[in-house]
Amino acid sequence: MSDVQQLDHHIGGTTSAPAGGDYLESTNPATLAVNYQVARGTAPDVDAAVRSARDAFEDPRWRDLSQTRRGHLLRRLGDLVAENAEELARMETADNGKLLREMRGQLTTLPEYFHYYAGLADKIQGDVIPTSDRRVLNYTQREPLGVVGAITPWNSPLTLTTSKLAPALCAGNTVVVKPSEHTSATILRLAQLAVEAGFPPGTVNVVTGYGAEAGQALVDHPGLAKISFTGSTATGARIAAATASRFIGSTLELGGKSPNIVFADADVANAAMGVVAGIFAAAGQTCIAGSRVFAHRSVYDELLERVTDRARTIRIGDPLDDATELGPLAFADQRVKVDGYVQLGVSEGARVLTGGRQTDGGLGGYFYEPTVLVDVDNSMRVVREEIFGPVAAVMPFDTEDEVVALANDTEYGLAAGVWTSDLSRAHRMANRLDAGTVWVNTYRAMSPMSPRQGFGSSGVGVEHGQETIREYTRLKSVWINT
Ligand code: NAD
Repeated sequence: MSDVQQLDHHIGGTTSAPAGGDYLESTNPATLAVNYQVARGTAPDVDAAVRSARDAFEDPRWRDLSQTRRGHLLRRLGDLVAENAEELARMETADNGKLLREMRGQLTTLPEYFHYYAGLADKIQGDVIPTSDRRVLNYTQREPLGVVGAITPWNSPLTLTTSKLAPALCAGNTVVVKPSEHTSATILRLAQLAVEAGFPPGTVNVVTGYGAEAGQALVDHPGLAKISFTGSTATGARIAAATASRFIGSTLELGGKSPNIVFADADVANAAMGVVAGIFAAAGQTCIAGSRVFAHRSVYDELLERVTDRARTIRIGDPLDDATELGPLAFADQRVKVDGYVQLGVSEGARVLTGGRQTDGGLGGYFYEPTVLVDVDNSMRVVREEIFGPVAAVMPFDTEDEVVALANDTEYGLAAGVWTSDLSRAHRMANRLDAGTVWVNTYRAMSPMSPRQGFGSSGVGVEHGQETIREYTRLKSVWINT
């Protein structure tokens, strides 16, 4: 008998064994120890979860709850996340290899997401419209959509799921979450905390399993009013097609290949730190990774030396150890993919300045060295495609116009970094870059209050901020003849 914990779906406020009776193995990528046996969801499980969410949506305990009370529940859930922060941080570190230090940091801000939407809950309102006929009263109201399907990836499960769950509940919807097959544990725990917070059974459901099975069944389910997805552009395209053909909405947060641009007038030491954090944080497994680094030719050598020196000294190892700076990639195939891209880059003519090798991190896990590629250009796949690993491609440029053209020459448009001491240039670049988020002299800043949107193949729709409420409501116009 194995003592590995078994995790079942969370449906209707309680655990639910998979209809097919099968479980999938979830392992710790740092040590390859098996963490959990996770319910392998299929269409019947998804159907049960959507029905439960539909029942909850129509249940007066949720439907008739005042917006103020909805806000109280979200606030309580945020408080519970804070109270259970250490447990959640450790669970996610064990699941995807993220540094515990980093997870603890994330967990200090995660409650803010719930608290932010708690504050917005009683501010969702319509307008009275002054039409030309004064005998007629016309007003609008914002209504919840119904059952929202939330499909999320493995790289930041708690934060990325919360970015959907909190606004969806704030607006009065109910939710079925399908977390990544690699990282189900914290999302199931979050669903338990929602019950503890007092959300009625069925408002938050979680069906675990593979994308091609549970995920696809959720996408195909006719009971959904919307799908909110974060993940790869390829999966996002399939979801966009499926939702468009059924005339239901989708919010899609997809991949990126973000430029990080260092001008001659930048504080180069500071910029180098920003470049390193931009690409190597979370072992490069972030959608906003600054994977294309452009440095003005006059500071190219200095920047490269600083970034490469730092990359060589980054401490790889146990994500539980406070001194560790780089944890493992999240699973075996992810490392095969990253290494494949580095080999491809070399075959296309790239030179590896540092890194480019797999390592077991002393723990037997899926680690990969921080890697810097040079002699690369925009025609190479290694510069055009998302690698989702600790691999920076560094290129020189001569003029502002040139670097704008190079930075914008991508199918993606998620984020961009600019390093300069020239205020006018900072504003010009912010205007000219085709990216939903532009950071100047910083990178990775994020807040539940600040909306973000991916341009181009990086997505459709907005997450975070007040704008999100539009994503999770529909607008009704009412005319009354007085
Ligand atoms: P993925 O598309 O492989 O999987 C994401 C989720 O979709 C998982 O839960 C998966 O099981 C599910 N899925 C897979 N195939 C499916 C299908 N046919 N039908 C329904 N669901 C399916 O992506 P991933 O590898 O888990 O995540 C990494 C990607 O996510 C990267 O491209 C990254 O840039 C992107 N990402 C984007 C953001 C953002 O905010 N824009 C944030 C984080 C990650």
